Amino acid sequence: MSEIRTNPFTGEMTLYAENRKNRPYEFVHKTQAKNTNNENCPFCGGHETWTTDAVYQDGPDGAWQMRVFPNMFPAVKEDCEETKGEPFYEMAAGRGRHEVLVDTPDHNETIDEFSEERIEKVLHVLQDRLNNFRARKHTQYVQIFKNCGPSAGMSVRHSHWQITGLPIIPRRAALMAEKMQGDDCLFCRMLTYEKEQGKRIAGETERFLAITPYAGRFPYELWLAPKVHQRDFGDMNEEERKDLAHLLWEMLQKVTRLKEDVGYNICVMDGPRNTDFHWHIEILPRIGGFAGFEYATDCFINMTSPERAARYYRGEKEE
Ligand SMILES: [Zn+2]
Ligand SMILES: [Zn+2]
Repeated sequence: MSEIRTNPFTGEMTLYAENRKNRPYEFVHKTQAKNTNNENCPFCGGHETWTTDAVYQDGPDGAWQMRVFPNMFPAVKEDCEETKGEPFYEMAAGRGRHEVLVDTPDHNETIDEFSEERIEKVLHVLQDRLNNFRARKHTQYVQIFKNCGPSAGMSVRHSHWQITGLPIIPRRAALMAEKMQGDDCLFCRMLTYEKEQGKRIAGETERFLAITPYAGRFPYELWLAPKVHQRDFGDMNEEERKDLAHLLWEMLQKVTRLKEDVGYNICVMDGPRNTDFHWHIEILPRIGGFAGFEYATDCFINMTSPERAARYYRGEKEE
């Protein structure tokens, strides 16, 4: 069963993907440190036959840097059977596509150790996959994300990204999109305001700005965004991509120094189909956890103010 059900009261969605519980990779536990062995890892160079066939690979088997293949235990599937649903409730069949991009053949290498040039190449491949997903008729929304570290939900401890093409527009993306339409984009106005204020600026290049968002949910949360309104991550040109790779590299150096073996997510927030948007990347460090309060109220408790976090990213000493 793969089904996306909507909470009739709040509009929250839950994706039921029962096949994912069969994933063989659940041997990785929180206590497992870096530098684990790669004997059982399907993502390591040389283990190509352990996964589905690659849709992209930048070198021969055993000698690639990047490799993309359909997730063997997809949360959504292109051949998802039609489910009837119940007239009382809103739901959608979990029809879509779920791919994995392994961005290094090396089991122990992490993205903060990549050069800027390699990060730029990774961004380029992600753009290509996004454009490929968008061309598929059931795709309403594409979510690209990366889980770094077990505390951030990483189940295979080998650096990778996931790309999901969904048949619905998630509530968060839909709400954001409403405020990002045309000339009156709230995100553009926010970036102008933050530039004037300066206190939540974490980093800056010619074309991109990194801010610690005013009401960020996570301690040391970061948003990296093009300064000029741009609808789609897939629209970024080479110059822009190089600029972003530099800023992302710089920010990741600091994120990984927050604490030993810090977990974090990197999420590319992109527009739903046929809708204007101001795309950006959200980096969500996992310091401390969430508990009943967060789940009950949808209000996050965050023990680090965005202003303090920005000072950290700017390398300023605490007063
Ligand atoms: Zn591996
Ligand atoms: Zn904008």
